[in-house]
Amino acid sequence: MLKIDMHSHILPKTMPNWTKKFGYGNFIHLEANQDGSANMMQGGQFFRRIAENCWDEKIRIQEYQQFETQVQVVCTIPVMFSYWAQTKDAVELSRFLNDHIAELVSRFPKNYIGLATVPMQDTEAAILELERAKAIGHVGIQIGSNINDENLSEDKFYPFFEACAKLDMAIMIHPWQMMGFESMKKYWLPWLVGMPAETSRAACSLIFGGVLERLPNLRVCFSHAGGSFLPTLGRIEHGFNKRPDLVAIDNQNNPRNYVGKFWVDCITHDIEALKYIINMQGSRKVCLGSDYPFPLGDLEIGKFIEESDLSIEIKEDIFCNATLEWLALEKTTFQ
Ligand SMILES: [Zn+2]
Repeated sequence: MLKIDMHSHILPKTMPNWTKKFGYGNFIHLEANQDGSANMMQGGQFFRRIAENCWDEKIRIQEYQQFETQVQVVCTIPVMFSYWAQTKDAVELSRFLNDHIAELVSRFPKNYIGLATVPMQDTEAAILELERAKAIGHVGIQIGSNINDENLSEDKFYPFFEACAKLDMAIMIHPWQMMGFESMKKYWLPWLVGMPAETSRAACSLIFGGVLERLPNLRVCFSHAGGSFLPTLGRIEHGFNKRPDLVAIDNQNNPRNYVGKFWVDCITHDIEALKYIINMQGSRKVCLGSDYPFPLGDLEIGKFIEESDLSIEIKEDIFCNATLEWLALEKTTFQ
């Protein structure tokens, strides 16, 4: 069975020290270690240690073979977004990352699919890079759950979503710059509590702001099974019904109407939670995702689904059909 992991992260093995080059900020650069790993440095501060499977395409393919997964959708690591930077610098950084992924995809077209990053701090520049990314082979883009703490429902982002719909570019929404980060650093809470809330923030913003209503052809996928959006939909809908004066000010449609019109990945680490998500979304709107190569990801690439009692049809939807439809790709491309 064809298996496509639609949520994995990759970096180039080397990149400039952007902080030095641009002369400000805390951009990410890599410092190689003796053992083959590298340290991601944020400005001068240690951010995260990464291993060769973060950049070595052949090691990645081998690791995926262990879980009979042939194809990886790759995108950058959200900390690379750099939406806080000056536009011209964010454009240069985005182009660098997008060119790296495009080149990888062109060498391994049966193993890799690319999602680009765009400088969302400047809608016009983001649209230009979106167009360029499509021209060099990307089939979609990854953006953050907020843009410098502004919600995706802000009017200024709408032309960008319109351009994605027009250019037929899929969108993956990934949590980043988690709300409450400063006040809950202990216990890894930004990742455990903040990330699911961020993804729900993005879903609620796109729904209540009317973006999904106005652009029904926009193909959006929310990370980590939609975060807390689907599990708390009852509360969200109840809020919509009871306080329309607060909630239904830009879109009169019940938020539940949008369930099953977007995609989510399957990263729940819990088969019962996944079954609940499949019941809501339908299996053609739940994609195999892993968050490889990071420790909070499902590094057995859907083994918990393989071992479950879900039907073959549902498994096939999750393992490939949902992602092929989200990205508007043909199965034959990968066989
Ligand atoms: Zn991720």
